[in-house]
Amino acid sequence: MFNKGYLTPVQIAAINAFAISLLVGLANFFFVHNWWIALLTFLILFLISYLLIRYFTERFIYRHIKLIYKFIAQTKATKREEFFNKSVLPEKSLQEVSAEVEEWAEQKKQEVEQLQQNEQYRKEFLQNLSHELKTPIFAVQGYVDTLLSGAMNKEEVARKFLLNTSRNIERLVNLVGDLDEISKLESGQLQLQKQNFIIQELVEDIFESLSIKATEKNIKTSIKKGCELPIAVYADKEKIRMVLINLVDNAIKYGKQNGHIIFSAYKTTNDLVLIEISDDGYGIAEEHLNRIFERFYRTDLARSRKEGGSGLGLAICKHIIEAHGKSIHVRSTIDVGSTFGFTLDSKSRTAA
Ligand code: ADP
Repeated sequence: MFNKGYLTPVQIAAINAFAISLLVGLANFFFVHNWWIALLTFLILFLISYLLIRYFTERFIYRHIKLIYKFIAQTKATKREEFFNKSVLPEKSLQEVSAEVEEWAEQKKQEVEQLQQNEQYRKEFLQNLSHELKTPIFAVQGYVDTLLSGAMNKEEVARKFLLNTSRNIERLVNLVGDLDEISKLESGQLQLQKQNFIIQELVEDIFESLSIKATEKNIKTSIKKGCELPIAVYADKEKIRMVLINLVDNAIKYGKQNGHIIFSAYKTTNDLVLIEISDDGYGIAEEHLNRIFERFYRTDLARSRKEGGSGLGLAICKHIIEAHGKSIHVRSTIDVGSTFGFTLDSKSRTAA
């Protein structure tokens, strides 16, 4: 900070001392005509003025930056550390102080950037959220108003409107549930309860619980051939259940009539298990692939809304997998299908 393009106190002292000593040395030679005495005067004067100028320059600069430094040190050090710094340690050199100030400034810059990012994120989140809430609430309001203003008397119409109302309320319930989940995950309250369990058993459970929804579209669910042998993983079973439910539910929602959802699991060489859910549905265009794990990001808004999606499912999956120290990924081709995959630790030998 102080020596980028500026002279250091050492350089200032040397230049000034040189200029003074040279002048006095030359004057001396001019009057005395003895170059030995002139040289000696030059050297002694150079040494004394260099030391004095350097000492006073450093003191002057140090006193001025001390105030700033004091403020920085106060915000960084505890009272005990401050006492130790002041009374026990030798006084810091200008270079050390300048390095600390630079480090402090860099740290503050990063903090400000982080705060700006959080602010932007908060704004976007609120915008998205109010948009997500508005649509079903206005729809419900519309149906109820129409029912009250006479439609209630026509049974067929009333039934249709009530069904639509119920569907919109279901969307709101899904949204509030997912919001609750994501806010817990993002506030760092997630405590993983890891245990050993067989991943195939969990998947069978999930296929079973979503079988009615799958049958409505005549979608088949199965475990890939060769992946039937039980594989034990070490993870938070309930959280992984949530991830798999989201992925299988999406595969049904964005899957075609008479489609097929396949689960596979492979043990990798480094004690990891690769888990994949593949579908032969509508697929995702390449430009969306790196954004679909963002909150409220959808590639097909109309279909997501129709299916009661909150747009938070994949963001929740990402949080959970990242909390396990792993990552989630996707491969997809439009009209061919999608594969979502993530890794987990394989069975722990120490845990029960
Ligand atoms: P949503 O509640 O809208 O399903 P998600 O976060 O679960 O929200 O998914 C985000 C978006 O990713 C979806 O709206 C959809 O556009 C796309 N998507 C997710 N899974 C699939 C899939 N298996 N096939 C095609 N598109 C998918």
